[in-house]
Amino acid sequence: MRIVLLGPPGSGKGTHGKRLGEALNAPIVATGDILRQAIQEGTALGKSAQEHVRSGRLVPDEVVLGLIETRLGRADATRGFILDGFPRTVAQAEGLKALLGSNGGLDRVVNLVVPTEVVVNRLRDRWLCSQCGAIYNTSTAKPKVAGICDRCGGALQQRTDDEPETVRRRLEVYARETAPLVAYYQRESVLRNVDASGPVTEVFEAIQRAIGKS
Ligand code: AMP
Repeated sequence: MRIVLLGPPGSGKGTHGKRLGEALNAPIVATGDILRQAIQEGTALGKSAQEHVRSGRLVPDEVVLGLIETRLGRADATRGFILDGFPRTVAQAEGLKALLGSNGGLDRVVNLVVPTEVVVNRLRDRWLCSQCGAIYNTSTAKPKVAGICDRCGGALQQRTDDEPETVRRRLEVYARETAPLVAYYQRESVLRNVDASGPVTEVFEAIQRAIGKS
C-alpha cells in the first residue's frame, strides 16, 4: 500500500508510522528524519536544510522532492511505502503525483486530527532516543528509567525545534502550507480523517480501520 500520514507536528505521524511500517512490512519514509540525519552528518543536503529545520520553516520543495525521488526509487519502496511528513505543500503533492505517474497513485491519505493545545503539550513533553529514534512522552509514555531508552539504552533528548517559539512557527506553517492538502486529497477521494487525540493503541486501531486493515 502507498500511504501518506498527514497531520500537524505532534499529531503522532512518527509514532504511528513506525507501527504501521511493522504491521504492513513497508518502509517508512520520514522526510524530517532524513533531513535531521543529513544535518548531523554534515552532507550537502544537511547544510542546505539546516537553517530551515532549525527555525521551523519548510525546506524548499525542490530539495525535498529530490530526496523523495531518490528514496522512493529504492527497491524496498516498489511494493509500497508510508510517507511521514511529506508532502507538506500542494507543490510537493503535485510532484509526488508526477513521480508515481503511471504506477498508480496513493491508496490512502490518513489525516490525524488533534486539537492545537494537545499537540503543543505533546511536543513540550516529547523525548526521542538519540540512537534508535524511539519516541517517549514524559506525561503519557514515560521511559522506565528517566532519560534512558527502554529499547536500546540510548540517551533521550528533545528536538531543538520542539522549543515553544519554534513550535508556534511550525504550527503556523502547517496551517498555511500543509492544511490545504486535506481538501486536495479529499478531491482525490483518498482522504480519511482519524481522531488522533486519544491513547496510542486506540488511535492505531482507528488508523488500521481507515486503511482497511482491520
Ligand atoms: P518533522 O520531523 O516532520 O516534524 O520535520 C522537521 C522539519 O524538517 C520541518 O519543520 C521542516 O523544516 C523539515 N521538513 C520535513 N519534511 C519536510 C517537507 N516535506 N517539506 C519541507 N520541509 C520539511
